[in-house]
Amino acid sequence: MSTTLSDAPKGASDVEVKHTECFIDGKWVPAASGKTFATINPATEQEIAQVAEGDAEDVDAAAKAARHAFESGDWPKMDARDRGRLMYRLADRMEEEIQSLAALETLDNGKPYRDSLTADLPLAIDAIRYYAGYADKLHGSTIPIRGKYLCYTRREPVGVAGQIIPWNFPLLMLAWKWGPALAAGCTIVMKPAEQTPLTCLRMAQIAKEVGFPDGVINVVPGFGPTAGAACVKHPLIDKIAFTGEHRTAQIITRDSADTLKRLTFELGGKSPNVVFADADLDAAVQGAYIGLFLNQGQCCCAGSRVFVQKECHDEFVEKLTALTMKRKVGDPFSADTEQGPQVDRDQFDKIMSYIQKGKGEGANCLTGGNRVGEQGYFVEPTIFDDVRDDMAIATDEIFGPVMSVLTFDDKEDMLRRANNTFYGLAAAVWTRDLSQAHDFAARVRAGTVWVNCYDVFDAAAPFGGFKMSGYGRELGEEGLKPYTESKTVTVAL
Ligand code: NAD
Repeated sequence: MSTTLSDAPKGASDVEVKHTECFIDGKWVPAASGKTFATINPATEQEIAQVAEGDAEDVDAAAKAARHAFESGDWPKMDARDRGRLMYRLADRMEEEIQSLAALETLDNGKPYRDSLTADLPLAIDAIRYYAGYADKLHGSTIPIRGKYLCYTRREPVGVAGQIIPWNFPLLMLAWKWGPALAAGCTIVMKPAEQTPLTCLRMAQIAKEVGFPDGVINVVPGFGPTAGAACVKHPLIDKIAFTGEHRTAQIITRDSADTLKRLTFELGGKSPNVVFADADLDAAVQGAYIGLFLNQGQCCCAGSRVFVQKECHDEFVEKLTALTMKRKVGDPFSADTEQGPQVDRDQFDKIMSYIQKGKGEGANCLTGGNRVGEQGYFVEPTIFDDVRDDMAIATDEIFGPVMSVLTFDDKEDMLRRANNTFYGLAAAVWTRDLSQAHDFAARVRAGTVWVNCYDVFDAAAPFGGFKMSGYGRELGEEGLKPYTESKTVTVAL
């Protein structure tokens, strides 16, 4: 895989936008209404392109195409192994186009090109490959029941999957959803985030070129309450896989009640990252830094509550602040940029208002706290110390480069405080004491726990939330289950 930075694009003008329409039944079509919306470069605040604004009518056409492809098109006739081969071809093409896909991701989202190239794309390709291998390995079991019968189960695809994704990792979220759906034999109607539709549209064209039959993958760009809600309500769509905010998931739950859709949700977090005094402090500093500032702080699993044991607090914050002050914020296409802009004006304003709340509530701002430059949605990496559990910066998901440091003395008290949130997505602990690490891992209420590391992802390892951080899991074998139905067959002998 070529992940060299030497031939990186110089800037936005070097990046080609090829697709801006809806992709339905293998064809590029404008929105039925003729409407379009602007997608904006967050580094410059300039419009990149006008994109088709899909709505209920477009979702209806996409759902019909996906249904047809699922029931009577070439998809159900294809051997599972050949489905897997198509998925491998998709991953291979992503690899061949890794630089142009990474550049398009950076243009639309603002994340540093080097991150797109060395993290987002390799992880996305890996997820498609991982699930390609599952296509011909989904099988049921034979079950001994009373009487003279043969009883067995079949694992069948759930049908048409409606997939609604956010803007923070557009391609990676696509791969986490296309991978298991295609392996299971489902067909897809995807609604990308309105802030970042471009790589998803490019992927639809790549899928067409590698040979996915018409209707198997459909993409309808547009807004949540219109295009997204239409997917959720559509009777021909069997399942919704959604990543985004818990409030949106609550709306989706209500909107899907009439059609009783299968639902999987990957939602937000306020993850505790706990540093014990016996930890390798330099490693913990690095882990807290990456755990929060990665992707401009726009990570569902961001370690935004850093609990530090009293004895090592001063040394820890001193080292962390020194490291953070060196973080290079700027043009996402520059090779040495570590942090790009926030994705859009709304996120920028929300983050700045939390920084004001932090200051207003008496937290101690150790570094950052301001906008960077006059153009683009750049925010200084910010650390608040002396944060109390009840401050807004300690309770709310900020989704930006704003870290809260909280001090603890007693382990039991820390555990109670770490769990005192309605979120439960991720957690981490830094310690040299093995029992302490496992005790924390067992008692923290979170779907993922990292011990002496942070943000370690693998396509094979399930990911998802406890409590209001979601239902179900993505990735790993567990990630396939929500895309299948189990059918029991009983035969009289
Ligand atoms: P969001 O919920 O506003 O939007 C996500 C998607 O849902 C977008 O495509 C949007 O258009 C669509 N949407 C909005 N309203 C809708 C409606 N009424 N019906 C159907 N679809 C609708 O979230 P966001 O601000 O774009 O994304 C950030 C959130 O995503 C954060 O809370 C973050 O923690 C979460 N997230 C979670 C994970 C995870 O795996 N758990 C990963 C990435 C992001």
